[in-house]
Amino acid sequence: MSNFHFVVEIILAAVTIYSNISSKSFDSLLGNISNSLFLTSIENLNFNIFCISPCILDKFMRIYQYQAHDFAFSSSEGLLHALGGAELLQLLNQTIEESLQKSGFSQKYINEIVTSVMRVFFGQSAGINGFVGAISLAGTSGGIWAVEGGNKRVCTGLLHASKAQLISGTVISIEEKTQQKGHSGGTVNLYEVTYSSTSALVKEAYNVILIAAPLNSKIANITFLNFNPPVPEFSNPYKQAVVTFVHGRINASFFGYQDPSQFQLNSIFTMENPKLFIYGMVTVSPVQNGKAALNPLLGPRVWKIFSSQPLAKEQMNFLFLSYDSTKAKTWLAYPHYSPPEKLPPIILHSRIYYLNSIEWAASDMERSTVSAKNAALLAYHRWYEKMDMIDQEDLHKRLKTEL
Ligand SMILES: Cc1cc2nc3c(=O)[nH]c(=O)nc-3n(C[C@H](O)[C@H](O)[C@H](O)COP(=O)(O)OP(=O)(O)OC[C@H]3O[C@@H](n4cnc5c(N)ncnc54)[C@H](O)[C@@H]3O)c2cc1C
Repeated sequence: MSNFHFVVEIILAAVTIYSNISSKSFDSLLGNISNSLFLTSIENLNFNIFCISPCILDKFMRIYQYQAHDFAFSSSEGLLHALGGAELLQLLNQTIEESLQKSGFSQKYINEIVTSVMRVFFGQSAGINGFVGAISLAGTSGGIWAVEGGNKRVCTGLLHASKAQLISGTVISIEEKTQQKGHSGGTVNLYEVTYSSTSALVKEAYNVILIAAPLNSKIANITFLNFNPPVPEFSNPYKQAVVTFVHGRINASFFGYQDPSQFQLNSIFTMENPKLFIYGMVTVSPVQNGKAALNPLLGPRVWKIFSSQPLAKEQMNFLFLSYDSTKAKTWLAYPHYSPPEKLPPIILHSRIYYLNSIEWAASDMERSTVSAKNAALLAYHRWYEKMDMIDQEDLHKRLKTEL
């Protein structure tokens, strides 16, 4: 399995299912409603939620124009407000369920479709904030891509292109220090970073620091020493998710199929039920010849299963008739969302910036990338005191007319 290059095809031919573990089978909640009806429903959902006066996603896309003109924002709330005003910010203060109810979606639709998507994407319910909920629903609309050789190649490619020097190590503490300026006299404030590398503890001084990992004692456990005022501590919890890859033959009867040859699903999403031990599962396939690898008639496929806990052997035996290879990874994956959401600051100290603030609005690669570019621009403008490039309002109008 290690040589496999995966692409996830999120075809939302979702069967909404619930479990009856004691009888060792899932019953199809929706009986004979066809999968294609689900596809139609989800496309409609995207259309409605994202294109209400005007589309949430269109508003978010404005950031690329703002950043192309080098504008930066000093808080994540400020960034979202500049993109979509109070309406976009309001999504952080209500659940996706409330947002959709206000837009006229039925409770049945929210329970069976929306909740299933939230479970697979964020291991949570329709009680997550409206912004991250909208981002998750956008992820169902296709256009998902993967890089041959692994998406991690994007990171190595960017590192190479930026010509940055990478020092591998774990940062343990950051301390503000005052140093003599050398011959010119006077003093300069620097940040002394202590990190452990393969050989030993190393201390090095920096002018500007950008933190790109969640400041949570179980993830990036960085101590801030001797700061006055102190750097705030963040105790908000991250949620555990387990991803298990399995190369095996699905147990079609467990999903209500008497005839295994009828089982054509590539994605299985689940509704909320305390007895359920998976959030969902999707097939993955190589970047090249992906369609062939997805054909259920051609033997075992690779499934990616999302759950809150590692799967026990007994649970694996419910899901698969047989399997020859498995690999599981446990993550503290994403914030445990609980609107109203208060986003951590981006500026932690005069020249320390925190990129992962944005995760509390929505945790995904695009938001992280936007936050990273924002922090770089912010650090630059504050260093050179270009304050007219920070926290500007009405950029959407101004960029149309003035610039
Ligand atoms: C199972 C799973 C599936 C996902 N699927 C998708 C998807 O399909 N699409 C999508 O857009 N997003 C997805 N995401 C979310 C996406 O991975 C994150 O949004 C993104 O990785 C966040 O990037 P980051 O740089 O902020 O943090 P991370 O990618 O977590 O990087 C933080 C890095 O900091 C390092 N680190 C931590 N502490 C220290 C320290 N003290 N010193 C030095 N280094 C430290 C860590 O080792 C890590 O390498 C998924 C997440 C998970 C867990």
